[in-house]
Amino acid sequence: MRSPQLLCKLYDLRPQKQLGQNFLADPATARVIIDRAGVQPEDIVVEIGPGLGALTIPLSRAARAVVAIEKDRSLARILSDELIGAGATNVRIIEADVLNVDLASLALEAGQPVTVFGNLPYNISSQIIIRLITARRQIPRAVLMFQKELAVRLRAAPGGRDYGRITAMLRYCAVVRRLAVVTAAHFFPVPKVDSEVLEIGFRPPRNYPAHNEDRLFRLIAAAFGQRRKTLKNALSGAGLSLQPPAIVRALSQAGIDPLRRAETLSPEEFVALEISLHRAASEADAMQPL
Ligand code: SAM
Repeated sequence: MRSPQLLCKLYDLRPQKQLGQNFLADPATARVIIDRAGVQPEDIVVEIGPGLGALTIPLSRAARAVVAIEKDRSLARILSDELIGAGATNVRIIEADVLNVDLASLALEAGQPVTVFGNLPYNISSQIIIRLITARRQIPRAVLMFQKELAVRLRAAPGGRDYGRITAMLRYCAVVRRLAVVTAAHFFPVPKVDSEVLEIGFRPPRNYPAHNEDRLFRLIAAAFGQRRKTLKNALSGAGLSLQPPAIVRALSQAGIDPLRRAETLSPEEFVALEISLHRAASEADAMQPL
């Protein structure tokens, strides 16, 4: 495998900042990540942003097949040549913006649950996680590299500044585990910040399923939309079609002090609140004159 420094020189490539092109430049790190992720010979892996193949080539050796989605056409062409050079015949490259790809359908096409891998560009990391949460029945596991700051937020516990909307959504349906820390010096060009590799293992929320998951996620978004406000105020202005007194009642019925803030609520408490808001909405409907 040729280094990204060499490939950039050979092909006169300028890594594009807006596509988050900081390539992993250390093959040993790629192998450690794949080892720790426990990729098995029968696995099918969907890789987001394969770039010049730092993860794609070792993944192709560890897994049954790899589907690699790359937005940058010139990189996709170089990657295709690199794969031939490395004798990797089990990789399919899709030249596309991953945000236009239906990941769940890709998994269904594969005929088995798939693992998503990727060293993600910062600007689409949160959107990808939200899509993965939606597609989690077909994609039970993801192994993703994030800028450290975002990784810290994704694995934060309730109660602090780092715990936010996506953390609460993830904690509702997944277990997040740190697999590795990769310092900035392992990339080319060298970014300003270190990275972390997280494993996101989706699991059914067995003990506390929401009544309606869409509403749960809207509620979490509304609560964190105004995270400095008390829940009572944040939710009253959030278009939940309930009057403030009904919101206060729902909070109390869920055993939540209306003066608390979103960041102090565990996922279980968000679910309790969603269920009690559902009850309040049904009661309000029942009281409408016919
Ligand atoms: N996986 C390679 C590695 O570790 O060296 C490259 C990682 S680089 C941080 C991010 C990659 O994602 C780049 O190849 C970039 O072109 C690609 N990319 C950026 N935005 C994308 C998008 N919306 N859809 C698909 N690929 C994207």
